[in-house]
Formats: sequence, C-alpha cells, structure tokens
Amino acid sequence: FTFDEFLTHWAAERPDRVAMREEDRVYSYAELDDLTARAASALIAAGLKKGDRIAWIGKNSDLYFTLFYGAARAGIVMAPIGWRLSPNEWAFIVGDTEAKIVFAGPGFEGLADQLAGKLPNDPAIVGAAEAWAMIEGAQRTSFEPSDANDAVLQLYTSGTTGNPKGAVLSNRNLFALRKHSSTLDMPYTKWDDDEAVLVAMPCAHIGGTGLGIMALAAGLPGVVLAEFNPDGVFDAVEQHGVTRFFMVPAALQMLLMHPRCASVDYSRLKYILYGAAPIPLELLRQCIQVFGADFIQAYGMTETTGTISMLPPEDHDPAGNARMRSAGKALPGVEIVILGPDGNSVPIGEVGEVVTRSSNNMLGYWNLPDATAKTMTDDGWIRTGDAGYLDADGYLFIHDRMKDMIITGGENVYPAEVESAIFGHPAVQEVAVIGIPDAKWGETVKAVVVAKPGSSVEEADIIAWARERIAPFKCPRSIDVIEALPRNASGKILRKDLRAPYWEGYERMVN
Ligand code: ATP
Ligand code: MG
Repeated sequence: FTFDEFLTHWAAERPDRVAMREEDRVYSYAELDDLTARAASALIAAGLKKGDRIAWIGKNSDLYFTLFYGAARAGIVMAPIGWRLSPNEWAFIVGDTEAKIVFAGPGFEGLADQLAGKLPNDPAIVGAAEAWAMIEGAQRTSFEPSDANDAVLQLYTSGTTGNPKGAVLSNRNLFALRKHSSTLDMPYTKWDDDEAVLVAMPCAHIGGTGLGIMALAAGLPGVVLAEFNPDGVFDAVEQHGVTRFFMVPAALQMLLMHPRCASVDYSRLKYILYGAAPIPLELLRQCIQVFGADFIQAYGMTETTGTISMLPPEDHDPAGNARMRSAGKALPGVEIVILGPDGNSVPIGEVGEVVTRSSNNMLGYWNLPDATAKTMTDDGWIRTGDAGYLDADGYLFIHDRMKDMIITGGENVYPAEVESAIFGHPAVQEVAVIGIPDAKWGETVKAVVVAKPGSSVEEADIIAWARERIAPFKCPRSIDVIEALPRNASGKILRKDLRAPYWEGYERMVN
C-alpha cells in the first residue's frame, strides 16, 4: 500500500465522507485527495524530486497532513520536527535532514529569524499562508507515485538517551500495521463505520502522525488537535465523535487531573491506546475506572514505526491481573525475541534485550551508518535497547531501558517498577527513579519526587511505602523532592538529565 493508493481509493469509494477535521475546517476524502495531489504538484514545480526532503516545524495541523500526504504521494520525504524544541535543536535537526524547504506551521511566523545564522545549509523557509497559497494555486499535474519501499517520512527519535536520530520510514513501514490488522480477528482492529480518530500527540512522533495515518488507512475521519490539551480532547470526544485516541501516560494523567474530567460524556469512546513510556499501574487503574473505554497498551519505538506489541482490553482487569503489567503480544507478522549479553536467546521468563523483526522496521537512520549498523542487523532485526522478558504465553514484559537499569550490589533494578510502586503514594504527584554512585554498592536507588500540591513528602514515609510493595533491594535509599521532572517533548522523563548532577566525576557502568 502507498499514500497515493489510499487517497485515490477513498476519494473514489467515499468522496463525501469526512477525511480530516481541524476546528471548523473539514475536508472530505475527495477534497483531501485533490489538495494532496496539488501539494505534490506544487512541490515538484518548486524543484523537489523523489528522495528529497522537506521539514515541518509547527503544531499538528491540516496543513501539515496536506503537505505530508502530498509529498508522500510523490516520494518526497517529510521530516516533522518537534515544535517544543529550542531553536538550536531545530537548527540541528533541520541541518541533519538536508531539507530543501522548511515549512513553518501556523503561529511560527518568526521561524526564519529564529533559525538565522544557525543552519549549516540554506533551505527555503515557507510560512503557513504562503504554503496554502502554493497548494491552492497549483495545477494538479501527473507525477510518478512513490513505491511501497520508497522513503516518505523521516521521524526523529525522542532524544531520551542521546541526540535524536532520523528514522527513515517507507510507505510499507507506515501501512504494515494495517496489513496486520486486517488479518487480526480482534474487535479493536476492525472499524465501525461511524468511528473517528483523534490526533492528540505531536506530529513529530509516530503517536501523532501515526494516528492520522490510521484514520486514512481506515477511510475514517482524523480529528486534528493542534496540541494536546484536556479541553480539546474532551470536546473532540463529546462533539466530534472521536472513538479512539492514543496518549502517553503523562497526558492521561493530565486528563484525570482536569476538573472537567468527571463530567465528560465518554459514551462514544471505544478504545484508548496508551504507550511510549512505562505506565504506573495505579494510574492505569484510575483511567480504567474513569473513562470506561477499552484500553490497549502499545509498545514500540520510532524505529519500528510505532507499535509492535499490544496488550488487548481483555487483559486489563483492574482486579489485579498480573498481565496488566505486560506490554502485550507481538502483532501478527512481528517477531520478538529476547537476547542475552552473549547475543543468544534467553529462556522464557529471563530478562534480556528485546529484539524485533517485521515489515514495520525502518529502512535505517538518516546519515548515521554506524548507528544504523549498531541497531539493525543485516537480516533485518532491530535491537530496541529495552530490557524485558517473554512469558510462556508470549506476553512481553518491558522492564525499562537497558541504559536506565540500576546495578546495586550486583542486583538489577529497573526504575519503572520502583516508580510504579511509589506512584500510588497519596503525597506523590510524579516520581522518577535513578541510580546514583555509591562506594559500597556501585549504585544505589534514588527516587526524585514531585509532591502533590499542598502535600509534603517525607523521605522515611516514601521508603516505608515502597518497602511494603517491592523487594528491599529495589527500594530507594534516598529521596529528593523537586518542583517538576525534566521531560522531553514526548512527555518522557529524561533520566539522563536527572542523573547528570549526581554522576559528575564518575563513570556509569551501564551506558
Ligand atoms: P531516543 O531513542 O532518541 O533515546 P526514545 O527511545 O524515547 O528516544 P521513541 O522512539 O519515541 O524514542 O521511544 C521508544 C521507546 O519508548 C522504547 O524503546 C521504550 O523504551 C519506550 N516505550 C515505548 N512504548 C512503551 C511501553 N508500552 N512501555 C514501556 N516503554 C515503552
Ligand atoms: Mg530509542
């Protein structure tokens, strides 16, 4: 499948159905087909050709999806860049993409000034109004559509462990999940005719752009939220018929804390997908109680075009089903194995590195042959860098990133498990767990906590709480209280930043 095929197909099958909506701007499939074909024509007229890159710096928008789908039809690669990054980070990524045109989204009129003097190359910088004029003014010309294996999207990894890397994804990568889904006999992989998908996470990540693609593949409306905000999500559910969305745990928590949360009508909501970071069990329980929808956990990474395993709704039994801690089973067509330090498969139940192969796997990192060679094997396997194990029924349990594992007195401690145990404490709003250097134990466990407004956090009290829930060697030895946890634009906790001050002058073993 390709973008060109989907757009042509739905424009013929259901021309008048809503394809995309942002606020009061609504596009039918016939309109989206026409606009994206004209976007492709305009880009070609501007001198771009298959394999060239364009970049986007802006929030989620109808313009972004029009440019991306248009470019993809012609095999021009879109690289969306996180709008929450700093101008220096934008410049680094824009330079890395070698984009010929950088599109500035609505509200980013000052982009050219912000990038001035910072770029290693000299792309055209085109504002939103100019971009719309370019598309609407273009004649629909014929062009050679991209092939299934052509690159169409370059998504940067979140930069949780280092510099963001550009994962190059093809038509095949982006629609692999649909191919899998259509062969799956699970209710949530089939769509009812009255469904709509919300794009609530940033388009620079697969959890944003991927949801738009999901709507396109299903021929259903994609409702675009410029940026995540609880009111926008609640309105989309109540007024725009949204039946599914994807959110990271931090966003779900923001929904729960919002005063409107309890009074929203969630009756049309069918599925809430969540993932991208470990979710504290207590948070998941609260969500299940409040939203009433079916929950699906997704596990994957940018390099695997997002989801490679899913925990289905039936395994979300709040009564304490151990499987609630799992990231689910590999999707059909996806192989997942666990490798030990020697590179061989470990026995069932044993922890090692999660390694995967499927047609979701990226073509490679852009301009990073060494990193690509480290991450991808010649026969198509990707090393995820995540520690986990498989149980006898094929359920994958993700412990944490290998790099965040704490080795204390020879025992391995995974921060996510400790965080999950502490999260339920009534005075704790947020918690991150890291290893800090220790002369005797190598590393010891430290919890960094953000207190709930009006609560005070007592070190001894938190440690005692943890001791009731997890093994003593996993419990924090010390607690620090801070105002807010450092997170990246995807809402992920930057444990490397939290660790840094404690590790000055030391060398970590796991790195
Ligand atoms: P970088 O690779 O630049 O350091 P990143 O790994 O955070 O950043 P992403 O590709 O956005 O970039 O995230 C993928 C990672 O997110 C996975 O490797 C895993 O560590 C984590 N992750 C994704 N889904 C889940 C999940 N369901 N449970 C736990 N962790 C998850
Ligand atoms: Mg990663």
